[in-house]
Amino acid sequence: MSARRLRITVKGAVQGVGFRPFVYRAARELELTGRVRNEGGTVLIEAQGERVDELPQRIRTGHPPHARVDAMDCAAVEPVTEAAFEIVGSAPGAPAPGVVPDLVTCGDCLREVIDASSRFYRYPFTNCTQCGPRYSIIERVPYDRANTTMANFEMCGVCRADYENPDDRRFHAQPTACPACGPQLSLLDARGRAVTTDDAIRSAAAALDAGEVVALKGLGGFQLMVDAANADAIARLRERKHRSDKPLAVMVSDVELAGHVAVISKEEAQLLRSAAGPVVLLESRGELPDEIAPRLGTLGVMLPTTPLHHLLLREVERPVVCTSGNRSDEPICTDNADALERLGEIADQFLLHDRPIRRAVDDSVARVIDGAPQVLRLARGFAPLILPLGRDTHAMATGPHLKNSLALCGDGRAVVGRHVGDLENTLAVDAMHQAAADLRDFFDVRPGRVACDLHPDYASSHFAHEQERPVTTVQHHLAHALACMLEHDLQGPVLAVVWDGTGLGTDGTIWGGEFLHVERGGGIRWRRAAHMKAFRLPGGDAGARDARRSLSGLLWEVESLRGDVLPAHRRQLEKRINTPLCTSAGRLFDGVAALLGLCGRQTYEGQAASRLEAAVEPGCEDAYALPVADGVADWTSMLGSMLRDKADGVPPGTIAAKFHHALADAIVEVASDMGESTVVLTGGCFQNRYLCERATNKLRAAGFTPVVPRRLPPNDGGVAPGQLIAALEGVGHVSCRTGDD
Ligand code: ZN
Ligand code: ZN
Ligand code: FE
Repeated sequence: MSARRLRITVKGAVQGVGFRPFVYRAARELELTGRVRNEGGTVLIEAQGERVDELPQRIRTGHPPHARVDAMDCAAVEPVTEAAFEIVGSAPGAPAPGVVPDLVTCGDCLREVIDASSRFYRYPFTNCTQCGPRYSIIERVPYDRANTTMANFEMCGVCRADYENPDDRRFHAQPTACPACGPQLSLLDARGRAVTTDDAIRSAAAALDAGEVVALKGLGGFQLMVDAANADAIARLRERKHRSDKPLAVMVSDVELAGHVAVISKEEAQLLRSAAGPVVLLESRGELPDEIAPRLGTLGVMLPTTPLHHLLLREVERPVVCTSGNRSDEPICTDNADALERLGEIADQFLLHDRPIRRAVDDSVARVIDGAPQVLRLARGFAPLILPLGRDTHAMATGPHLKNSLALCGDGRAVVGRHVGDLENTLAVDAMHQAAADLRDFFDVRPGRVACDLHPDYASSHFAHEQERPVTTVQHHLAHALACMLEHDLQGPVLAVVWDGTGLGTDGTIWGGEFLHVERGGGIRWRRAAHMKAFRLPGGDAGARDARRSLSGLLWEVESLRGDVLPAHRRQLEKRINTPLCTSAGRLFDGVAALLGLCGRQTYEGQAASRLEAAVEPGCEDAYALPVADGVADWTSMLGSMLRDKADGVPPGTIAAKFHHALADAIVEVASDMGESTVVLTGGCFQNRYLCERATNKLRAAGFTPVVPRRLPPNDGGVAPGQLIAALEGVGHVSCRTGDD
């Protein structure tokens, strides 16, 4: 009998997802001997037997759903004498082949949690190899129980037996726990005193029922909940959280109930049910109070993420508002004591447990656009995101100022970290430092160089310069374009339409309505092919917080319309006091929203633009003219037309539609002029579903291939990997048109 022996190395996301048990079972079925272990960035398998050649194929096609195989090598080696196939423990200190994101409760675990005969009945911390906490509880790699925040919970005999049984769903599931041995719930009031109850979940549900605010310790951090049908309770939460208008997400117990409050396509249902469990942006049915997402027509909906959420939602029997447990603009709370202190003024009750969260991972946000999912906030369930990269250089990119996240690379892959948030306070900056340290340790990256934004004053740029490594500064909109090119493995040349609120341009003005020609391969070559006509924004950064400032800036550019500029802004514009030039498409949206009376002061980023999008009248096919000549998309005649339409009593919805159509037409016009077949659409403005889908449809109809970010957010949360690419590949030729002042 000739037994062949193979040495198989597997690279990818292979820890914490039942990968080794899977290999073990496959080997046993094929009657092989040998072993499987984690070793230095890979999983190493040695297998021997007559059917050993079938194993690689099994690994490729049959691996667990949350694992990912990036590369596999097979080599024949000398057979040895051995009796069985075994799993060998992780070698200490070996770098992880990939840290796996947190996963929402799987169907098998949920069935046990609601089965009165199961030992996991009503146990809120039930999990298995296919679900449960991962990234949020890891202290250090490799991913073994002793290296997680479960280290202090000693497994009972029954759990231990499951953990050691290769045929059990909990075989080597590191956070395995049951009521006898695992974390326990507690319910406290706003002052941190224990609430006397024999069922913390039922009591918390009763509090929600009574209109109270409940802070719940979720998978990656605290969440604040109120009854989604109770407008007073929602108003109370908003007031206490100082969050006046920004949309709140709702959690519903299942997809069927979600269908009562929102319109859901097949793709959207899949996204809702996915193991990442993001908040999914859906079209609202108007069943819930408008206070949840004022004047937007959309609803962010998520399903329960843990058994605790499932049990609570089943008790409440209706949707609950579920939003990040933080004070406005601060990072999300993860620690019990910290939550009691920071959220004590907001929540009436705290539903806590004693399994520590090692790192904050916010709820992710995603949606279906142009027929496929797109991540808008890369956090719980998606982070850390791994993208293959054809080089081994170690580097780090510190990301943007708003919606910060970092990216690192080494050993043939780029890793994008979790959403950190706006770097507007020291807590957020600390969170960025922590996120960087985590990624460096988990992925064993020793950055030899660092990339950051061109803007020297961002906290993320300061952080880059503190590293005492060579720093590459990268223009913001180029980074947006390169990130999308990396994700889709595009070398270019492409036309990248990058529209957002703000980013420092290479000419010192504020950019944001950019058409870039970008090419990779032997260094990055790019040029600013066209841009929105520049205008002066009274108040600079403050201009972004009040849509009327943008409107004044736009009107000021047209001699005959200057009379309409608000007096407060007129003086500023006349004397050019803090009125930087910008080509921002985001501010153009703001100005048009203000013109239509849809928004003045903005209480959250994108508010004016979101309302303008929501105002679009369906069925209208007219468009304004937005001519592009000599590389400038000149909106001045369009502005005049809009004012005339408004004066003639044309409904705002029609004006909004014609405006969106003009922008999409301008994209096709520039694409036709340039002649590159691939057109990248990215930047925060393309979170506008109407604009994005209109543009992709028009581009396709004209024979172009539109590309949008999918696994990376189109907003600033996705720019760090683009900075990384610029640092790795080198930015060659830069030529740009300056602003037309
Ligand atoms: Zn499970
Ligand atoms: Zn147990
Ligand atoms: Fe941006």
